[in-house]
Amino acid sequence: GVPAARRRSAELERSVRERPGRFRALTGDRPTGRLHLGHYFGSLHNRVRLQNLGVDVMVLVADYQVLTDRDVADRLAEHVEDLVLDYLAVGIDPARATIFTHSAIPALNQLLLPFLSLVSVAELGRNPTVKDEIAHSRQSAVSGLMFTYPVHQAADILFCKAGLVPVGQDQLPHLEVARTVARRFNNRYGTPDGPVFPEPEALLSDAPLLLGTDGGKMSKSRGNAIALAAGADETARLIRGAKTDGDRHIAYDPVARPEVSSLVLLAALCLGRDPHEVAGEIGGRGAAALKAVVTDAVNDYFAPIRARRAELARDRAHIRGVLRDGNERAAAIAEATLVEVRAAMKALYY
Ligand code: ATP
Ligand code: MG
Repeated sequence: GVPAARRRSAELERSVRERPGRFRALTGDRPTGRLHLGHYFGSLHNRVRLQNLGVDVMVLVADYQVLTDRDVADRLAEHVEDLVLDYLAVGIDPARATIFTHSAIPALNQLLLPFLSLVSVAELGRNPTVKDEIAHSRQSAVSGLMFTYPVHQAADILFCKAGLVPVGQDQLPHLEVARTVARRFNNRYGTPDGPVFPEPEALLSDAPLLLGTDGGKMSKSRGNAIALAAGADETARLIRGAKTDGDRHIAYDPVARPEVSSLVLLAALCLGRDPHEVAGEIGGRGAAALKAVVTDAVNDYFAPIRARRAELARDRAHIRGVLRDGNERAAAIAEATLVEVRAAMKALYY
């Protein structure tokens, strides 16, 4: 469950701080639109922090996975470049981190075949995140890709043997799939030299599930997100329209009052303060006062990030160059892993 994952994240955090050079981290995002505040506080902030501590950070633009819940990848090139811009603007440094697109790494995708043989259809059908995404999908029929993408994601993580996966709470079931695949592969094909794959672990942040303006999980494709790159006025308008509740007294109580608490947490994270204190200061002044505090906090925090993004957006060739370099590095890692996998499996003719 989530509380156990949060406790484990705190332990991982301590090990990382002791010996950052021992760790590799991987996460990614679907190129389905601009990144939002949920991405930032759920995952991006941790990626940048890990990178700055000296962890080897891999960042995946999950382009094949755009097709899980739609027929075509609309405006794909634009969305891919938008993602890379967001990454660079928040502080991911392509000299230290590897940014790549998984469609450019054939050896990574090839891992999907043996990995699919390690999970049952019943297991895939029980994945709560996939169920939720199917419920929100615009497609009437569930595609095979939607059903199996957590296994593809296991390939994304395991191809580079990442041990750390800085993600939001929605990804915990997928991490379980990746751990299961690693464990079963090792059991079935393990060599005397030891396991082929490490069992990756989720690294949750202090905001593992930021809510959107409608009170559901903030998501790029649900029309409830506040983009990192949104302007100050757009941000103010979106926050003004955010769902709250009828209680004028503002308190931080994520279980009983999820919408209000998510707004309080957002302000607290931007201000670097404790959410109970932030809520206490607003007290009986109501949701409008809370929203004003949140708006100022978000706009102040993201002003330098937005300025950097606007500056970077003027050089699209640089963005494409970052991807070219990242793809080259990721491809070399994937090919080395595939050689190991084939050797371990023996069964394949090559
Ligand atoms: P889409 O609607 O296209 O699925 P999304 O907003 O769910 O987009 P993803 O690309 O699926 O974004 O997720 C990328 C990463 O961001 C994952 O690690 C996920 O856990 C994290 N993340 C996404 N939304 C939130 C959120 N609201 N709070 C915290 N973390 C989040
Ligand atoms: Mg998603």
